[in-house]
Amino acid sequence: MSIKQEDLKFDSAGLIPAIAQDWLTGEVRMMAWMDRASLQATLETKRATFFSRSRQRAWVKGEESGNFLHVRDVYADCDGDTILVLCEPVGPSCHTGRRNCFFQPLAESTPEEEPLAAPILARLERILIDRQSSTEGKSYTKSLLSAGPPKIGAKVREEADEFARALEGETDDRVVEEAADVLYHLLVGLRLRDQSVRRVFAALGRRLGVGGHEEKAARAPKAPKAE
Ligand SMILES: [Zn+2]
Repeated sequence: MSIKQEDLKFDSAGLIPAIAQDWLTGEVRMMAWMDRASLQATLETKRATFFSRSRQRAWVKGEESGNFLHVRDVYADCDGDTILVLCEPVGPSCHTGRRNCFFQPLAESTPEEEPLAAPILARLERILIDRQSSTEGKSYTKSLLSAGPPKIGAKVREEADEFARALEGETDDRVVEEAADVLYHLLVGLRLRDQSVRRVFAALGRRLGVGGHEEKAARAPKAPKAE
């Protein structure tokens, strides 16, 4: 059930809020405004294009920084007054250099300092990166990374085996817990090789027959076309 552009609800200034989300990780990158022309440009060029309220003109995200948002899909919400752009982001999306704009936890909502709003796997990856570079104390993650491939490989096998056994005859809760253990150790293994979870998601996307060349486009920000 799709919605036509003419049925979208732009506000009295002719604008509609647009949220950019990483299509692979689900991370919300930024929010900006679009007018009808910048939405049209977004659809045609496959590069997220917004309307600056302060400069009163359209701007291509990344036009100066090279940090484009290559567009995959564009959705409207239930009442047609908000746009969601699923995209392949190049580099950080916030002008501050952070990956996304949402790095300020509301004091009343988030008790601990969360450096960046992100889905759980991205958060875990970030914590692993911190542990990897941390010089203080010993953490379980750090000890695995220091021990290297044989130790991490042994843990992955062990946890995969426990998962398999849980699947065969243990409770659903055990299955879930063991799956979490497998995922955690897989992430440690990826970290050892400096590979991001995002690359794994991209590989899954290719198996589903989606993605692939967008990933290449994202690696070559100077490419004239996103497609
Ligand atoms: Zn920002």
